[in-house]
Amino acid sequence: MLKIYTNSVFYKHETGVEHPERPARLDAALEGVERAGLTDSVIRDVDAHPDTTRIIEKVHTADYEREFRDAARGGSRYFHSMDNPISSSTFAAARTSVAEAIAAADDIWKKRDAPIGAPSGTKRAFLIARPPGHHAERAEAMGFCFFNTIACVAEWLREQPGIERVFVFDFDVHHGNGTQHLFEERDDVYYASIHRYPFYPGTGAASEIGSGRGRGFTKNIPLQGGEGDAAFLGATEDEIVRIIDDYQPNAILLSSGFDAHRRDPLGGMRVTEQAYGEITRRVLECADRWCDGRVLSLLEGGYDMEGLAASVAEHVSALHES
Ligand SMILES: [Zn+2]
Repeated sequence: MLKIYTNSVFYKHETGVEHPERPARLDAALEGVERAGLTDSVIRDVDAHPDTTRIIEKVHTADYEREFRDAARGGSRYFHSMDNPISSSTFAAARTSVAEAIAAADDIWKKRDAPIGAPSGTKRAFLIARPPGHHAERAEAMGFCFFNTIACVAEWLREQPGIERVFVFDFDVHHGNGTQHLFEERDDVYYASIHRYPFYPGTGAASEIGSGRGRGFTKNIPLQGGEGDAAFLGATEDEIVRIIDDYQPNAILLSSGFDAHRRDPLGGMRVTEQAYGEITRRVLECADRWCDGRVLSLLEGGYDMEGLAASVAEHVSALHES
């Protein structure tokens, strides 16, 4: 069963009419859900998860969190760089992204040991949230991102009994520098990314493979730009699937950015919406082998409204199947 989470506070993170990361993205993603016939799967405005603050403080520094909250409250227009416009509700929106993501993970993984014969419950969820998160570093906002939502979920999952290996697959067209840096010295959270390189944010070379104990638990698959479905799907089928099968994760998380879509104004790639459906299916096949089919997907980028709607429709259709 698939659940799709979203929250009205995500509309209140105002970035200005010119900014690509704007509230209309939420409507585009929800339009995709409607096209897939899954509107009944949408759950709105879940109450805050009790672990939210503690987990945010595990991923980010207390000083950073305070600075961010004060900047939003104090009427600042930008946080850390002009890439990151903020409004009075930006802190609440970023915090709620983390809360909803943890609530979704809680629903998927905490109830996994229900007695045989009990309803199987939620196995998959997709969170339609903004701001996105994968560029956010421990103490730095970057690339429209403030809190690293997927890193927060990975940390939360690692606290749950029986979840010793978490796999993060990031298929946003941009490299998830924040997520990589937060886990690159660890072997309990594997970060794998397909992205355009060299490109924003400048990280993500194939030579970046993790360090220390984490060496070999970071995988970067750079694409030059301009590639279409063959390269994108080929990288998933040839490399990501093998890596997941080698790692045998207890949980799989997706940083789902749809900005490699051919219509996207930022990505410079030629991927179709159908490829996003296929990528999702390949990951689900791995999830069936290693973690009872359980997958949580978080919206990252995607800046053409029609491209985003079409891609989300394919993504959630695939998540809903089987
Ligand atoms: Zn992106």
